[in-house]
Amino acid sequence: MKPFPRAEVSCRALKHNLEQLKVIAPNSKVMAVVKANGYGHGLINVAKCLTEADGFGLARLKEALMLRDAGIQQKLLLLEGFFHELDLHKLVDHNIETVVHHESQVEMLELADLPRPIRVWLKLDSGMNRLGVTSEEFSSIYQRLIDCPNVEKPIHLMTHFACADEPENTMTQEQFELFESLTQNLEGERTLSNSAATLYWSQAHGDWVRPGIALYGVSPVMGDLGTNHQLTPAMELKSQLISVKSVKANESVGYGAYWQAQQQTTLGVVAIGYGDGYPRNAPEGTPVWVNGRRVPIVGRVSMDMLTVDLGVEAQDKVGDEAILWGKSLPVEEVAAHIGTIAYELMTKLTPRVAVCLE
Ligand SMILES: *Cc1c(COP(=O)(O)O)cnc(C)c1O
Repeated sequence: MKPFPRAEVSCRALKHNLEQLKVIAPNSKVMAVVKANGYGHGLINVAKCLTEADGFGLARLKEALMLRDAGIQQKLLLLEGFFHELDLHKLVDHNIETVVHHESQVEMLELADLPRPIRVWLKLDSGMNRLGVTSEEFSSIYQRLIDCPNVEKPIHLMTHFACADEPENTMTQEQFELFESLTQNLEGERTLSNSAATLYWSQAHGDWVRPGIALYGVSPVMGDLGTNHQLTPAMELKSQLISVKSVKANESVGYGAYWQAQQQTTLGVVAIGYGDGYPRNAPEGTPVWVNGRRVPIVGRVSMDMLTVDLGVEAQDKVGDEAILWGKSLPVEEVAAHIGTIAYELMTKLTPRVAVCLE
C-alpha cells in the first residue's frame, strides 16, 4: 500500500530538467539550487538524482553538511554565506564554499585561524537591496578579501536580480550593467542568474547559472508554465477520495457552513489539508484533478481534508486518486488560484506528506 497523501518525485524529470537547462544555458555550469529540502522534493533525493549538476546551492550550513554526510562530492555553495565565525572551520573541513555579502563576514574571515583558505563568492548588491555589498564599498571589500590569507584566490563574483521574473522589466538590464562595470577587469568566475534569468536573460548567464524552481519543472514567471520551456514537473502531489456523497440544494459544507450547494450534487472528501501543507486559504474553485478532470474545492480547507464538488453525474468512488498538482494540473495554475507562488506551495508541505522518489 502506498502512503497517502504523498508527493511523488520523478528522478527522470529532474535529470531531464537539468539537461534542458544546459541546453538553454550552453556555456554555463549549473549550480543546482536545492535549499529548503530541495524545494520540498527531498534534499538528498534531488542531489543524488542530479549527478550531472556541477554544484549545489544551499541556504544553510546544515543543508550542506547533510549533503556531505550523504556522500555528495560536488561543489557546495552557501548562498547566504556563513552566519558565525565557528562555521568557518566546518567550511574548511567539508570543502564548502561561501558567499560573502557583508563586511561583518570579511572581519570574521580576517580574524579566523584556519588550516586552509576558503573559496568565497563576493556578492554585489546591484539594486535588490537584500544581500550584498554596495557598489561604493565593493572595491575596498574586494581588496580586503584579496589581502586575506584565509581566502582562496581568485575571488568569485555574484549578484542577484530583483525582477528577472518580469521579462519586460528594465531593472534586470540595469543590475546587469552595474555588475559588469564593477567586475569587468577582475579574475574569478561569475554568477548572476536564477531560474527566471536563466530562462529569459541569456546575456546574463555568466560562468554559472543558479536555477532552483526551473529544475523542478516550474516557471517562476506569472502566467508562464515550465512546460513552455520543455521542462517537466518533477512533483505530483496526490491523495485520495475518502468519502463520496450526495447533497441536496441549499445544504452546506464544512466549517463555517459558508458554501451552499446551488443544486443537488456529489461531494468528494480528499484526505489532504493544511496539516499537510495544503493552504487553508485556498479559495472555492481552486482546482483538484480527479479521474481526468478539474473539480473545484468547495467550503473551507480543514486540517486533514478538503471537499470538492464532483458534480451531480459523478461516477467517482472512495479510494479514487486526487491530484493536487502535477503533470495534469500545473502547480503554477494552483498557485495562481490561491494567490501565492509555486515555491511556497512546494516548500510548505509538512513531514506528514511522504516524499516518494520514483
Ligand atoms: C534561491 C536562490 C536561487 C534560485 O532561485 P529560483 O528562482 O528558484 O531559480 C538563486 N540564487 C540565489 C541567491 C537564491 O537564493
